[in-house]
Amino acid sequence: MTEKVKALYIHIPFCEKICDYCDFPKLQYFRNFAISYLVVLKNELEQYTPHDLETIYVGGGTPTALEADLFKQLLDIIKPYSLGIKEYTFEANPESLTDDKIVLLREYGVNRISLGVQSTNDNLLKKINRAHRFSEVQKVVASLKNHGFNNINVDLILGLPNATKKLLSQDLENVLALGIQHISCYSLMLHPHTVLFNQGFRELSPDQSREYYDLVEQALLKHGFIHYEVSNYSLPGFAAKHNFAYWRNEQYYGVGLGAAGYLGNVRYKNTLNLEKYLKGMYIAEKEQLSIHDCFVYQVMLNLRTVEGLSLKYIKQQFAIDLYKEKKKIIDEFIANGYLMLVNENLIPTYQGMMILDTIILQLI
Ligand code: SF4
Repeated sequence: MTEKVKALYIHIPFCEKICDYCDFPKLQYFRNFAISYLVVLKNELEQYTPHDLETIYVGGGTPTALEADLFKQLLDIIKPYSLGIKEYTFEANPESLTDDKIVLLREYGVNRISLGVQSTNDNLLKKINRAHRFSEVQKVVASLKNHGFNNINVDLILGLPNATKKLLSQDLENVLALGIQHISCYSLMLHPHTVLFNQGFRELSPDQSREYYDLVEQALLKHGFIHYEVSNYSLPGFAAKHNFAYWRNEQYYGVGLGAAGYLGNVRYKNTLNLEKYLKGMYIAEKEQLSIHDCFVYQVMLNLRTVEGLSLKYIKQQFAIDLYKEKKKIIDEFIANGYLMLVNENLIPTYQGMMILDTIILQLI
C-alpha cells in the first residue's frame, strides 16, 4: 500500500476523574506526568514527521484535562502539522473546556469539537462518576458557538445503569435543543474490570439495544440528521472526515499512549504502559497484514457507512468477484432489506447496520 497518509490521531490519556464504565487508555491527571508526556509525544510525532495531512483528531482520555499552559504547549507541538488541514478535531469534556481553552483552540485552527456528554440526566451522570452536569454542557456549547465553532459533536451512551427509553427520549430532546451538527450514540460496553461491571450492571441485550437505536433513529432523522455510520449521525455536510479515513480502510498515523495506527501493510498499537512510553518504547504490537487480512478489513470497515463497499474496488484490488462468489447470500440480504446494491456499491440499510456482524461474517 503506497497511497498518501492523510490522517493523524493523537492520544492524550489523562483524566481528572475516572468514569465507572471506562475501558479506554487513560490515567489520573498529574501535572508532572503530563509535562514529561508532552516532551515524549513531540519526539514521537517528529519520528513520523507527517506532512500534507487532511485531518487531525486529538482524543483521550481527556485532552482538555491539561492545564491551560500545557494545553497551549500541546497545540504548539501539533501546529507544524496542522497548517491548512481540512478538519482538526479536539475531544473535550464540558467541565474542563474553559473559555481560555476555547479561545486557544480557535487561534490554533481547531474547527471541530467532540464533547463527551454521555447523558443529559444529572442523576445518571453522578451514578457513572462523570465530573460534569448537563447545565455545563449547555454553557460550553453556547460559548463554543459565540467563539465561532459551527461543527460540534456530542457523544451519548445508550444503556447506562437505570436508563430507560423515556430518559433516552429526554436525552435526545435535550441534545437536539443544543443546535449541534453531529451526534454519536454508542451502546454501553462493560468490561469485567470496570466499577459498573463489578457492581453487577450489564450491557443491553441485543433486543433492548435495538429498541434504543430505533428511538434514536426516529428522533434524529425527524430533525434532518443523516445516519451515515452505525453509531454516527450528522446534519448534511458534517460527517466526520477524520473517521472516514478509518472506515475507508485508509492509512493513518497514531501517536500517544495506547494509540493505534496503520502504515504500509502494518497495523500497530502503542504501549499502554506509561513508563515504557516515556522511555520512547512506543509500539507494543504490530500486525503485518496479508492480502486476505486487507480484504477482510476493507469489507468490515467499508460496510459501516452509507458509502458502502465498492465491488469494483474489491475486484481491482484483491482480484475477488465478491458478487459472483457470494451471489446467493448478497441477493438474500438485498431481498430482506439489509443491503442495497447501487452502482456496484453494497450499502447497508438501517436494518443492515443493526446486524452488521452477521452480514460481514457471511461475506468474508
Ligand atoms: S473521561 Fe473518558 S477516558 Fe476519561 S475516564 Fe471518563 S470515559 Fe474514560
